[in-house]
Amino acid sequence: MQIAKNSVAAFHYTLTDDQGQVIDSSEGREPLTYLHGSGQIVPGLEKRMEGRRSGDKFSTDVTPEEGYGVRHAQLMQEVPISAFQGVEDIQPGMQFQGRGPQGEINVTVSRVEGDKVFIDGNHPLAGKTLHFAIEVTGVRAATEEELAHGHVHGAGGHHH
Ligand code: ZN
Repeated sequence: MQIAKNSVAAFHYTLTDDQGQVIDSSEGREPLTYLHGSGQIVPGLEKRMEGRRSGDKFSTDVTPEEGYGVRHAQLMQEVPISAFQGVEDIQPGMQFQGRGPQGEINVTVSRVEGDKVFIDGNHPLAGKTLHFAIEVTGVRAATEEELAHGHVHGAGGHHH
């Protein structure tokens, strides 16, 4: 059976950056399971999963436009350290909830200079080309319940 709209597909993946550094991998974990055609994985990868079968292995590069998007300069801001009341020690890499143009966003502290904090509301993988190595481990048709919910149910098949 091939992956098509409304398939439930499972796959192992290793995601690397342009330098070949591993950003994320399912190695040592359960394969990732998703409902094909529902936008649960990045669009570029979803497109290339189409028509694959269990056992297929392939590598694919996904541009930022088809991945986590391009970086937006307006999501990078400088805020006074006083905006972080109650936080003892602001360090690069710390994440906070912030208010963005479209509501709540996660922001990451990119650097601290004196009493200025530079924050970045872009997705950490925005602007990056994603290099995926994929192994498809299973394909099945989604159940009616899964289609109604728009997501995959676990081995138990039911949840509330
Ligand atoms: Zn459900």
